[in-house]
Amino acid sequence: MSWLHTHLVMPLAESDRYAGLPARLRSIRRFERMSEKEQRNEQKLRLQRLLQHAYDTVPYYRQQFDQAGFRASDVSMNRPLPLPVLTRDHLRNAAALLLSTACKLDNLRMAASSGTTSTPITFYRDVDSVRDKGALKLTLDGWSGFKAGDSVMMLWGAHRDLAMEPNWRWRLYEEVLMRQTAAPCGIINEEILERFRLRYEKQRPKVLYGYSTVLAAFASYLQERGMRHRPEIVIATAEVLSDQNRRFLQSVFGIKPFIYYGSRDVGMIGAECPEHEGLHFHPWGSYVEFDPIGQSPDGTVYRLLVTDLLNYGQPFIRYDTGDCVTLTEQSCSCGSWFPLVRQILGRVADGIVLADGGIVPGVTIGCQMTSLRQNFRAISQVQVVQKSHQHLHLRYVLKESGTAESQELESICDGIDALTQHRMQWTLEKVADIPREVSGKLRLCISEMQTPISAYAPPLQSEKQSVSF
Ligand SMILES: [Zn+2]
Repeated sequence: MSWLHTHLVMPLAESDRYAGLPARLRSIRRFERMSEKEQRNEQKLRLQRLLQHAYDTVPYYRQQFDQAGFRASDVSMNRPLPLPVLTRDHLRNAAALLLSTACKLDNLRMAASSGTTSTPITFYRDVDSVRDKGALKLTLDGWSGFKAGDSVMMLWGAHRDLAMEPNWRWRLYEEVLMRQTAAPCGIINEEILERFRLRYEKQRPKVLYGYSTVLAAFASYLQERGMRHRPEIVIATAEVLSDQNRRFLQSVFGIKPFIYYGSRDVGMIGAECPEHEGLHFHPWGSYVEFDPIGQSPDGTVYRLLVTDLLNYGQPFIRYDTGDCVTLTEQSCSCGSWFPLVRQILGRVADGIVLADGGIVPGVTIGCQMTSLRQNFRAISQVQVVQKSHQHLHLRYVLKESGTAESQELESICDGIDALTQHRMQWTLEKVADIPREVSGKLRLCISEMQTPISAYAPPLQSEKQSVSF
């Protein structure tokens, strides 16, 4: 990792996120140098410290601990924590009861959850945890060989639209000092992909980093148009990378892509190591539990429950990420004991196909939901079904009737219209539940249209799997 970037550039330019970065990185390195036994003990201590803090200072957890007759000192790392799962509906309905009374308001930072598995909710993190999470992300980046300061091109969604109109400070920091170029992909079409291609060939980035389906579409475009530069590292994140798209990215770039796992709710907590045999969750930042919910041809499907070991402002204990995983019997060839999952079966969304052949990637729709910056109180889940180029059908689950319902529906429709750059014809349907697909995935968007821009983006189609529940 570049000493200059981690000790000077980042702490000075983004102090709220990176203050104290060198010490935080040292703390993670110290953890990583421990023996397995010491690491397991340290993780248990960190978990107990967080649980004790939650019991002492968070009204909701005090009640849950008392009801279960459970204390932090009772923790066994081999058994599920005997506490209820924390869902987004808990955060939606009882956010104040989940805040730690020990945290001052000016030490809390508000964030919004991802809009891909349910409508977004706002929550809080203490500022130290924001900084710890920044250090952990840099550590996980290091597993792929990506170091702060490396030249990187990021294929991001609409929430990075800041890059469309950058001011000079932003350009100086991101593009000159950090050597990062953001390529926002609110819509993918030939014009946008060609713009990305020109930027990519000019910048010749060491690292190509982006949403899985957008990376696949870009790779497909590069393959068709010819590619002079090859990146050293390809990183896919934010949504499921199907085996089909993984093989495709490898065939185009000649290297295996790295998959990262993170969400806005808990931050970046897992990544592949160089062996590419699954994703490890870093035990310094989280304690993960795998809750079995069904069977698939690949084995049991588990809900991913995360206890965030860093956020003391609004503790997340056994938080339901909305993502499912499959596990592997084998341990990773890298020799690490860090919890390993074979595959993430999480967020999946088709893109919306536009009349001119362009596509709004599904993951961008999720980002747009988040950027609406609302705490959705009335509507807890949505699913967009594209019926035709002009017609979108919105299924939604209502938690609370009242004026908020129509306001929230309007903001969702307006937000998606802004992405498609068209006034779509909307039909609405209130439903009791939006169940998971038989594959275990939650689908934000289903397009009933023909495969979009099929000439150059065949991998955008998701793979079908059969799972019984
Ligand atoms: Zn490994």
